[in-house]
Amino acid sequence: MDKSHESIAAANGITQQRQHVELTNTLQKWGDSFGVTLESLEFAKRMDAVDPLRDIRDNFTFPTMKDLPCVDQSLVENLDEECIYLCGNSLGLKPKRADAYQQDVLNCWGKLGVFTHFTGRFPAAQCDLLVKESLVKLVGAGHSDEVVCMNGLSVNIHLLLISFYRPTANRYKIMIEGHSFPSDRYAVVSQLKLHGYTEEDGLVILQTRTGEHLLRTEDILAAIQEHGQSVAVVFLSGVHYYTGQKFDIETITKSGQAQGCLVGWDLAHAAGNTELKLHDWSVDFACWCSYKYLNSGAGCIAGAFIHRKHHQDDRPRLCGWWSNREETRFDMQHSVDAAPGADAYRLCNPPPALVALHKAGLEIFEEAGMDRLLAKQYLLTGYLEYLMDHLDPDAGETGDEKFVEIITPRDPRQRGTQLSVMFPFSVKEIHEKLEKRGVVCDVRLPSVMRLAPTASYNTFTDVYRFFTVLKQVMMECRM
Ligand SMILES: *Cc1c(COP(=O)(O)O)cnc(C)c1O
Repeated sequence: MDKSHESIAAANGITQQRQHVELTNTLQKWGDSFGVTLESLEFAKRMDAVDPLRDIRDNFTFPTMKDLPCVDQSLVENLDEECIYLCGNSLGLKPKRADAYQQDVLNCWGKLGVFTHFTGRFPAAQCDLLVKESLVKLVGAGHSDEVVCMNGLSVNIHLLLISFYRPTANRYKIMIEGHSFPSDRYAVVSQLKLHGYTEEDGLVILQTRTGEHLLRTEDILAAIQEHGQSVAVVFLSGVHYYTGQKFDIETITKSGQAQGCLVGWDLAHAAGNTELKLHDWSVDFACWCSYKYLNSGAGCIAGAFIHRKHHQDDRPRLCGWWSNREETRFDMQHSVDAAPGADAYRLCNPPPALVALHKAGLEIFEEAGMDRLLAKQYLLTGYLEYLMDHLDPDAGETGDEKFVEIITPRDPRQRGTQLSVMFPFSVKEIHEKLEKRGVVCDVRLPSVMRLAPTASYNTFTDVYRFFTVLKQVMMECRM
């Protein structure tokens, strides 16, 4: 890297540190205004009391201590209490209204039979269109024909790559990030093989510097500059599932496209968790799942984005009868009369039972407002970060020994909800002890625990309760 790159990187480092300090100061100011310290339960309670989104939590069903298979009932005082759920990055909680919506679909089917295709709240033949406008807003599409609700995420990765990965002799590689989500890597490698390339030859993997956990933007740009001419597609995740790092989608997209690459994004951990402007950022294509921050239920129907610039470019695409325009779909013609834009990528008739669940989750996003959710996320994740930094009760005696290492960026602009943390003890042992006490979070090998205090339903008190339990567990591990 040349000198100017290094000095820009250094300047960025200072800005990032400043952003972190500013967040801590904001929390301190709240604490001062309440006259309490950030380490007190009172602080959490006061923050919840002034949270403009505090009532949104009532829209969700929380698992209770007595129902969770991991809880050791002898270790929790009140079995009817809600668990400490910090796992919204993996599976969002159930919106209460999902029951009624699901029942509605079943009722219509029962009462109407095949007429359920065009009647009722979730008319089967058109149900996927019911969530389109919410998705447009959520991912920052410019037009409703840029998004489509269909299939599952891994399936959509394949459908998109079949169209957008068109290797030539000189440009046939796919660039992904190191430690990428297994399904993404499998999908990309199997696409390479489908075209006769090997993983060794066809995959360009972005690596962190030795001893670092995060990918530096300047290193990503340098790799694109170095390999770009042989790369057909850059396919990265918007927020990294393991580290919680949010990538600079706009800058990276621009840089890939400047080298002639197509740039696609897996937004599984970004949708509903970060601000997205896919159209303005000129992203070529993207896909996401709906059951993490969007709270649609395990394996529920997913989504995809295809920029308008690609709607007329005649790229090959896998088709099914649902690729047709609505008006001619039931004419049963021999060739496809393609629907406009992203809708042409559909193959099957959409499942109303799944769309109903997806809609239940998305409505809450509409009601809460993404701006307010992100404002809460900033404080809630910042609060968790602060408490993790002040975890060691004997800090005075043990000197500067680090108790917990947060590997997620300290700069709140470079992360979403999730913090990934590492411990000086076995993370599996700590996790087991936490689960027994009703904390729901997860461990990803080799060594991180992922904590996601989710703005749509978690409270500051949840975070405080977690802090208290974790302190207890750490003391036990230490003994
Ligand atoms: C959650 C997740 C998946 C899961 O894929 P499914 O097809 O929904 O099972 C894939 N990729 C990433 C990056 C994820 O975070």
